[in-house]
Amino acid sequence: MTDDSALPWLALARGDLDRRAELRRDEDRLAEMWKDPRARVLVVEDGRTLVASTPEPALITVAPADAPPGDPWYLGSADDGVPYFAVAGPLPDVEGADRGGLRRLGALLSDRDSGLLTHAVALANWHAANRFCPRCGTETVVAAAGHVRVCPNDGGEHYPRLDPAVIMLVRDDADRVLLARGPQWPADRRSILAGFVEPGESLEQAVAREVREEVGVGVRDVEYLGSQPWPLPQSLMLGFFARLDGPADLVLDGAEISDAGWYGRDELRAAVESGEIVTPGAVSIAAQLIERWYGGPLPQTRAF
Ligand SMILES: [Zn+2]
Repeated sequence: MTDDSALPWLALARGDLDRRAELRRDEDRLAEMWKDPRARVLVVEDGRTLVASTPEPALITVAPADAPPGDPWYLGSADDGVPYFAVAGPLPDVEGADRGGLRRLGALLSDRDSGLLTHAVALANWHAANRFCPRCGTETVVAAAGHVRVCPNDGGEHYPRLDPAVIMLVRDDADRVLLARGPQWPADRRSILAGFVEPGESLEQAVAREVREEVGVGVRDVEYLGSQPWPLPQSLMLGFFARLDGPADLVLDGAEISDAGWYGRDELRAAVESGEIVTPGAVSIAAQLIERWYGGPLPQTRAF
């Protein structure tokens, strides 16, 4: 990994299906794929699905005939032509199956399974929160194999919504990293700063504003490194590095940040090893940004 490479691995940005968006309105092809004996269905309920725990966690999919009733959402097809769908509904009883969601499983699953679960949970969250037309309040109906909702009253088509959020690793001139704690977090938890992009704002402006609001310092050299979906419930995380611009003295916004400080690499390693602080788990883009700065995996015994 060279010093200026992008993030090499992101837990929830690994999906490998061809989404075949052109098939989403082709009812004949969709029906054919649903009848394909190879077709697999991922069932999701409240952000969780069925998982086999050994040896490595792997999603348990079912045949279409065994899926609960509900609109099938077409997620895409694999290189070998196997079509994958998701359905929201009660998780079927499968002997020995465990249940889990993205936070726990996202970094442990295969590329295929991580992509399936991320896509399915994102759609499930969007459908659950957007049943009614935002223009007239009529209940909308699912179209385009789960990727559109249509209002039967005014014909309006509604697409999945995403909330862009910036997350930024701020470094000072001594190459120390800024880590902070939100007021609701346990006392030992630390991460980098993050916040939602506001209407009428660029990503770079959002990075500068959030850093200023939360810890009272300026930044320059805002550099984009990578992104990953975070459908909890509907974010897209956009990861940046930024340099401190001006004085390093932190003025904390107590509502969003209750502790913050600058850590050199040795200092961070010592704080993590001693258990004084806990850093984000591998499923988050925060962990990948911190390790990109650190130069390798942190000696992590715990994570959140
Ligand atoms: Zn309407």
